[in-house]
Formats: sequence, C-alpha cells, structure tokens
Amino acid sequence: MDAIATKRFPAFALELPEWLEAAIPPAGHVYAAAEDRMTLAIRLAELNVRERTGGPFGAAVFNVQTSTLVAPAVNLVLQSKSSIAHAEILAISLAQRILDSHDLGAPGMPPVELVTSCEPCAMCLGALHWSGIRRLVCGARDGDARAIGFDEGSKREDWVEGLQSRGIQVRRDVKRPDAVAVLKDYVASGGPIYNARSGMTDRQR
Ligand SMILES: [Zn+2]
Repeated sequence: MDAIATKRFPAFALELPEWLEAAIPPAGHVYAAAEDRMTLAIRLAELNVRERTGGPFGAAVFNVQTSTLVAPAVNLVLQSKSSIAHAEILAISLAQRILDSHDLGAPGMPPVELVTSCEPCAMCLGALHWSGIRRLVCGARDGDARAIGFDEGSKREDWVEGLQSRGIQVRRDVKRPDAVAVLKDYVASGGPIYNARSGMTDRQR
C-alpha cells in the first residue's frame, strides 16, 4: 500500500531523474576550467527541459582541489511538488550527503564550489550561507530568469558583496549566452513558468 496513505506525516526525499547518471562523465573526470564545469550545469538544465523532468536550471558541486564532480542536480519543483527543489538546494544537499557533513566548509573537508546555470534565487542564496560552499560560479543572471517570468524573490542589490564578505568567492556570467539560451528554449517549448505569486490577483502581486 502507498506509504503516503498509511502514514500521516510521510518521509520527505528528493531523487534525481533516471536519465541523469547516464549524462554524466565517469567518476574522476577532471573539469579543469570554470567553463568546463559550467558546461555540465547548462547541459543538465538543457536535458531537464528536453526530458520534461523540471525547470530549466542545473547546478553542481565540485571539489576545488581536484576539479572533479561531487554532486550534480537539476530543478525538480514540479515533479516533486516541492517549492524547495531548486537545483542549487539539491546539489548542496546531495554533496552534504556524499561528503557526510552538514558543513561543506568544516575543517578537513576539501573546498567546494557550487556552479549554477542561473544565479541563485533568494532561497538558494540563503542556503549558500549555511552550506560551507567556498566558491559560487553563475551562468545566466537572475534578471534573465525574471525576464521569462520566474520570481527570484527579494534579494539585496549587494548580494555578491554579501557572499564575498563571508569568504565565498563569486564569479558571474560564465557562458551566460548558453545559459540564457536554455531559458529561452524552455519558454519556446511551452514549459510552465511557476512561482508562488501565480495565484494572486494583479493587486496582490
Ligand atoms: Zn533557488
């Protein structure tokens, strides 16, 4: 019988789509340049659209010392019926599971970098502060996501400086045109634009 039907408060879990493992190079593959790492994040976003498993966003956590992949992820909001299932949240959570620590910046841990096909929304930005991530690399700008109708939430204008003042390096606009192309393809293919304001009247928005 379905666990949800028998349990009042079911377990909560998120699982990456089945196609994803086959789309990732073998373990140990070296992603030497930030552009190489971004190529993977954008590819994941692209495949997520093509396979119709979620929104046009991909992200991945990399080990900075070895330039190898720790954890890949894609947006799974609609499929999982969870508003927190953004690619960045999944990549961070999976990396923490794989590296067996809630703090990716803890003593003895390899420094890690989050690469995301689009700049983090307000929620993911908050999660970054708590994650122990040491470096953030972004493709599309948050304005590019807003331009197609996604709500990135309320973010301070100086969010980049805010991260840098906490020792998190930020690099923007890496392969931005390629990342923006995925956003545009998603809209062109009729992908649903979702945000928590969609049920509001014009006055509430
Ligand atoms: Zn987000």
